[in-house]
Amino acid sequence: MRIVYVNGEYLPEDQAKISVFDRGFLFGDGVYEVSSVLDGALIDNQAHLVRLQRSLDELSIARPASDAEIEEIQQELIKRNDLTEGMVYLQITRGAAERSFDWPTDAEPSLVMFTQAKSITGSASAQKGLRVATVPDLRWKRRDIKTVNLLPASWAKAQAAEKGADDAWMVEDGHVTEGSSNNTFIVTKDGVLVTRQLSNDILHGITRKATLQLAAECQLKIEERSFTPEEAYDAQEAFMTSASSFVTPVIEIDGHEIGDATPGPIAKRLRELYIDAAQQGSLPA
Ligand code: PMP
Repeated sequence: MRIVYVNGEYLPEDQAKISVFDRGFLFGDGVYEVSSVLDGALIDNQAHLVRLQRSLDELSIARPASDAEIEEIQQELIKRNDLTEGMVYLQITRGAAERSFDWPTDAEPSLVMFTQAKSITGSASAQKGLRVATVPDLRWKRRDIKTVNLLPASWAKAQAAEKGADDAWMVEDGHVTEGSSNNTFIVTKDGVLVTRQLSNDILHGITRKATLQLAAECQLKIEERSFTPEEAYDAQEAFMTSASSFVTPVIEIDGHEIGDATPGPIAKRLRELYIDAAQQGSLPA
């Protein structure tokens, strides 16, 4: 059985408990991070901890542990669960308090962390490529904050599944914002790599940033701008990035085949480069 961490204790998962008054549970009042693990080592973890601090600051949630303490718990969970490949999830909420819309002044923030084993490098969907469907982006206006309010994103994925697709690309004002839990990229017929510019409309993906740097090192022409679903249908390649799946090719969008409907060479190359750099601990800072 998995050992998880809850507010200072390492416990078997069936003994780990959180208060019914926890504001994460009642209000979605919390933030999270997911760091991937390859060969038992955390990937790009420092960048995740920097983004965690930013999410906490934006919502004035106090931190229950320093970066060094969090990393120590991450390492301990990897060790106790014998994790070689997968993810470490961490969540900080504003804590337990009498239910009220007011932010409590005396709540202790709560920290929950657990591991998830997953084959990321050998992922079958990355080999085959994913089919995605576009759906309206129904989320709030601060998507740059990594909150646990994931219902709209999870709903988007369910709507995509109803359409027979593997994932959702969310659309607002006629333009793709991002995937249900990933950043989206296309390669135009002129060979330009396009991904939406950073703003409060999308999460500032840690994998997005590293992938853009790897692409720049390959001399790819990059444009950070919005694109429409129609531009994506006509692209030569498409892919998405996230800490839990790295670079994953997309082969179909709303039933339109992308390129020859197999993972494209640029997506495959960037995936290889990302995995090599992650394994060597040499991802661009
Ligand atoms: N956008 C959204 C909405 C996400 O949920 C995620 C992953 N949690 C990402 C992008 C990718 O971010 P990262 O590369 O930091 O995992």
